[in-house]
Amino acid sequence: MPHAIRFHHAGGPEVLQWDEVAVPPPAAGEAQVRHHAVGLNYIDTYHRTGLYPVPLPSGIGLEGAGVVEAVGEGVADVAVGDRVAYAGGPLGAYSQLRNIPADRLVRLPAALSFEQGAAMMLQGLTAQYLLRRTYRVQPGDTILIHAAAGGVGLIVCQWAKALGATVIGTVGSDEKAALARAHGCDHPIVYTREKFAGRVREITGGEGVPVVYDSIGADTFMDSLGCLRPFGTLVLFGAASGPVPPFDIGLLAQKGSLFLTRPTLFTHTAKRADLLAMAAELFDVATAGKVRIEVNQRYALKDAAQAHRDLEARRTTGSTLLLP
Ligand code: NDP
Repeated sequence: MPHAIRFHHAGGPEVLQWDEVAVPPPAAGEAQVRHHAVGLNYIDTYHRTGLYPVPLPSGIGLEGAGVVEAVGEGVADVAVGDRVAYAGGPLGAYSQLRNIPADRLVRLPAALSFEQGAAMMLQGLTAQYLLRRTYRVQPGDTILIHAAAGGVGLIVCQWAKALGATVIGTVGSDEKAALARAHGCDHPIVYTREKFAGRVREITGGEGVPVVYDSIGADTFMDSLGCLRPFGTLVLFGAASGPVPPFDIGLLAQKGSLFLTRPTLFTHTAKRADLLAMAAELFDVATAGKVRIEVNQRYALKDAAQAHRDLEARRTTGSTLLLP
């Protein structure tokens, strides 16, 4: 009988349990995937804690890579034996075997391993839509990314650099600063020592940046607004420190006709044509060596609770895999 990590009530990492699960044959439109690697993402902690409520009991996880073992009626997007990866669809990636809507699956190029696929899909497609579809980074831009040594962060640093940008990134320690620098971050700022808004003004000669990519939320939001130049865009895409409290929208005018957006990957990938185009662009930068996918932590899938503890305690860098 295959196993999966499931949770029966919201809470700390200890609610994640290793359950036996029955996996029926795939229904119409579904494919059955045997996972070789599963991706760990910060959003998984939001589901577990109830910040993003889900009906319980529930599977967990949105990203994996493996082989298609069966397909349901009417499936044309993939075939049995295909090497595939995905980011999105119903929760349940923390599993050995699962069914998933086939239109969420992307074929992995031969040059990319299952581990690379599971490590890059969610964080890499996020970097794609942040840099290429939300605020389109131009050569010569100076940008600010928070959590620059994290999973999304290391990919954004490298990709933005390859696009010709100067990258400023915030990190929580000197070790993370060195790691971010080695991945294209020109100006790592250790925010525990130095206020990042003042440092961003210094680096940009007082002008500010055209875009801030902020996934920290509550702790950074106001200072992130303070880093923008007139007409700048704040892309708030996560809440690692908690959700941003309601704020006076008039601040956007006072601080220089600013733009604020709160995007999510799953709107960008909702149409299959967009998913495929975004994945093709991601696979191109990865296979060309412009973006290296750094798997810096690996856990047995059944130890997912420990992986959550380490992620939330800021002990991880780059991408993290759970291995079934
Ligand atoms: P990371 O690997 O970046 O891990 C989170 C990092 O955030 C930590 O390592 C830590 O780095 C930093 N951090 C700052 N404050 C806190 C805090 N209070 N608690 C915990 N961590 C904190 O995770 P991911 O790459 O998986 O995701 C990065 C962010 O992007 C998350 O917020 C996630 O929700 C968001 N995201 C949003 C998507 C979207 O479409 N909207 C899609 C994918 C991710 P440091 O020590 O350097 O501060």
